[in-house]
Amino acid sequence: MRAIPWDELTQAAQAVRKRAYAPYSNYQVGAALLAEDGRVFVGANVENASYGLAQCAERSAIGAAIAAGVRRFVAAVVASPGERPATPCGMCRQVLAEFPPSFPVRCVAEGEARVETTVAALLPGAFGAGELAQVRAPSSPGRVRAPSARAPRRSSD
Ligand SMILES: [Zn+2]
Repeated sequence: MRAIPWDELTQAAQAVRKRAYAPYSNYQVGAALLAEDGRVFVGANVENASYGLAQCAERSAIGAAIAAGVRRFVAAVVASPGERPATPCGMCRQVLAEFPPSFPVRCVAEGEARVETTVAALLPGAFGAGELAQVRAPSSPGRVRAPSARAPRRSSD
C-alpha cells in the first residue's frame, strides 16, 4: 500500500474548513477522507438556526464519499480552529466506525499540535452490523408482512 499523503489531506481539510457554514458557533471544521481508490472527499460542518440540526465535517465528508459510491477509506484528517485539535464527536465516531476496517485519523488545528489516532481507538466496542445480524427480523402479527429489510452489504475485509 502506498504511503498516506498526510500533507495533501491536511491541506484539503484546512481548505474546506474555511468554507464551513458555522455562523452560530464560528467553530469551522473541515474533514478530508482518503478513499481506498485514492480519491479525497472533503466535508465541512453545516450549522442551522435550529441548533440540533448541525452536521459535522466528518459526516459531511462521509456523505460526499457515499454519494460517489465509495465505502472504503484509508485515512482521514480533521481540521479545527484554535491551538488544540478537536477529535471527532461521538456521533461522528459511530459513523466512521460504520465503514471498517479501521483507519488512521489525524486531527490538526491552527498550531503545531496534532492528535494521531484511529477509528478503532476513537470508539472501542463500536456498535455495528454484527449486532443486528444476531437477531431475526421481528415476526409480524397476523398476515401483515414486514417490509423486506436487507442488511447493509459489506465487501469482504
Ligand atoms: Zn461530529
